[in-house]
Amino acid sequence: MQHYDYIFVGAGLFSATIAHEAAKRGKKCLVIEKRSHIAGNIYTQNREGINVHEYGAHIFHTDSKKIWDFVNQFATFNRYTNCPMANYKGSLYNLPFNMNTFNKIWPDVVTPEQAQKRIAEQAAEMKGKTPQNLEEQAISLVGRDIYERLIKGYTQKQWGRPCTALPASIIKRLPVRLTFDNNYFNDAYQGIPVGGYTQIIEKMLSGCEVLLNTDFFDEKEKWLSSADKIIYTGTIDRFFDYSQGELEYRSLRFETETLDTPNFQGNAVINYTDADTPFTRIIEHKHFEFGTQPKTIITREYPAKWKQGDEPYYAVNDEKNTALYKKYEELAAKQDKVIFGGRLGLYRYFDMDDTIEAAWKVCKTLGL
Ligand code: FAD
Ligand code: UDP
Repeated sequence: MQHYDYIFVGAGLFSATIAHEAAKRGKKCLVIEKRSHIAGNIYTQNREGINVHEYGAHIFHTDSKKIWDFVNQFATFNRYTNCPMANYKGSLYNLPFNMNTFNKIWPDVVTPEQAQKRIAEQAAEMKGKTPQNLEEQAISLVGRDIYERLIKGYTQKQWGRPCTALPASIIKRLPVRLTFDNNYFNDAYQGIPVGGYTQIIEKMLSGCEVLLNTDFFDEKEKWLSSADKIIYTGTIDRFFDYSQGELEYRSLRFETETLDTPNFQGNAVINYTDADTPFTRIIEHKHFEFGTQPKTIITREYPAKWKQGDEPYYAVNDEKNTALYKKYEELAAKQDKVIFGGRLGLYRYFDMDDTIEAAWKVCKTLGL
């Protein structure tokens, strides 16, 4: 077995960002990945001429010019702006919550002042109380009508628990605007890489050896003794053999279909916000790149309870799991050879730009 400066466990964006800097400086790098492809959850695959986001819709957005310039080295980004729609029992509403949404929900509301007044009337049921959970936070932000139609069902499906048992912080991520602006994000830069995301990771890893279909845990000791440093981006509890207990994750099931029609829903993302439709959204991949192919590919996204062996898509950052993660974080701090990173190693939700930022921090500590 050869010796490496760095072995990366996982070929996602976090590993690739560091590996790119390391290889540039002449470091000997090996990346091992248990899946049959690189790129982790940002993996895209071309089918029928359409770049399919195989692990859910990925829209790149950031406020950092430095990060934007960095990713633009590896692909040309288009002008895609995420403007998802919500379908509630057959009626369509604009997201995020803005003047278009307010006018559709309350047709007599036409001006920002009227919208503000209507929201304030509905939020009065909170009697000035500080919101203690997601339901209360949502009602304070946009009132009960919008909460019932566009938030309650979607959120309960997504997280598998009632809005009253979820932290207020989840809903604070969404903008509420008194303008007719359907852009889902507030960031200065946004787009989709023309030709998909996989090429970005391919280019980042071009100076490294990559072993696919290789699970770190099949030969943990061998890998640990074959490098000066290990950058580990798998689940942190698994690394420590679940010694402190199992962390909880939320999983997803993707159902993808090719349809013999050029345009199924007219938008890349449509959320289904009622409680009865079992999926949360339908993605029509071609619209990310303004595709004009004769066929279309759609993916229904079903939230799912996670058990060992399933893909862990989301960390569940509630009190119980956060406390448990802290114990693993303490164990991780004692490992001088292994650096834990990425969304699974750090047990938190990271957008792609956060992932790059976090990877750069590690580069700094490694002197890269
Ligand atoms: P990952 O991409 O998960 O990579 C980790 C890799 O490690 C995986 O390939 C895994 O197979 C591998 N691995 C794990 N264990 C082992 C092991 N034991 N041995 C070998 N390999 C192993 N961000 C945005 O900015 N915009 C979006 O629109 C957006 N949408 C998202 C939608 C969904 C459904 C999800 C889940 C995430 C979304 N994100 C989005 C976040 C984005 O996916 C992450 O920021 C990014 O993928 C994190 O990269 P990572 O390297 O940390 O993790
Ligand atoms: N959300 C909602 N209705 C929607 C879209 C989002 O209630 O149509 C809520 C839901 O609780 C979700 C949160 O807003 O978890 C954050 O949404 P975002 O789109 O950021 O979540 P993602 O699915 O991308 O993680």
